[in-house]
Amino acid sequence: MNEPMVKFKDVHKSFGDVEVLKGINLDLMPAEKVAVIGPSGSGKTTIIRMLMTLEQPTSGSIIVDGENLWQMEKSGRLVTANEKHLRQVRGDIGMVFQHFNLFPHMTILQNCMTAPIHVKQENKASAKARAIEMLDKVGLGDKLDNYPSQISGGQKQRVAMARALVMRPKIMLFDEVTSALDPELVEEVLEVIRDIAHEGRMTMVLVTHEMEFARDIADRVLFLDKGVIAEQGTPSEVFGHSENERLDSFLRRFR
Ligand code: ADP
Repeated sequence: MNEPMVKFKDVHKSFGDVEVLKGINLDLMPAEKVAVIGPSGSGKTTIIRMLMTLEQPTSGSIIVDGENLWQMEKSGRLVTANEKHLRQVRGDIGMVFQHFNLFPHMTILQNCMTAPIHVKQENKASAKARAIEMLDKVGLGDKLDNYPSQISGGQKQRVAMARALVMRPKIMLFDEVTSALDPELVEEVLEVIRDIAHEGRMTMVLVTHEMEFARDIADRVLFLDKGVIAEQGTPSEVFGHSENERLDSFLRRFR
């Protein structure tokens, strides 16, 4: 059987004396598409940030593609991977946030070439070819020489996706990527994610408030509530009739 691409074992996270994750156990299989839904403040972004190695757990273990990022020893000591190791794991993970964080002084094409050149030491010609290929894929092949200020929010978000894809990630994380967009720009961004999902190869984790979209593309939906996975299952299980009162009242807001 395949090993999980991502494994969380009893992960807890506190900020000060507030515990925001209260024992997360999670296996994500290679190529699995998982949507994470739940009320604001339930810990969704914290899970994504931990996967991206931007936060470390207070206790528990996180394993990505067979590599231990953090491991809890029997003694209770948390062992952290070294910085070189973390950098390597980060290289396998692509992340797209709510805010696009493009470099304003660089063209769209340059925005998509910097990481392969500076992080992966790729040569300029191959980085450029790959960036053009990915910008074509997200439908922006005609905007290569534009600057971020010259394109719409939906287009910026598609650039952010191309910029992540050029790194050939094994895992893609999407954190509320449509929340900051005008409603008429949401669909073009979801369409690109759908295309990537249908290609199938990457493991994908999507934090989203787009319930229809989650239903459409996810293999599994997790309902996070107050720092625990309160419910999980296939989209039809989670979006169908649920015995879980909190899930039911959360979903009613989207009907
Ligand atoms: P969600 O993504 O579900 O809205 P978050 O993971 O962003 O939830 O946040 C969970 C809780 O953790 C919130 O109460 C938030 O205020 C708190 N939190 C997140 N990051 C920090 C931080 N760096 N310092 C203190 N509290 C934080």
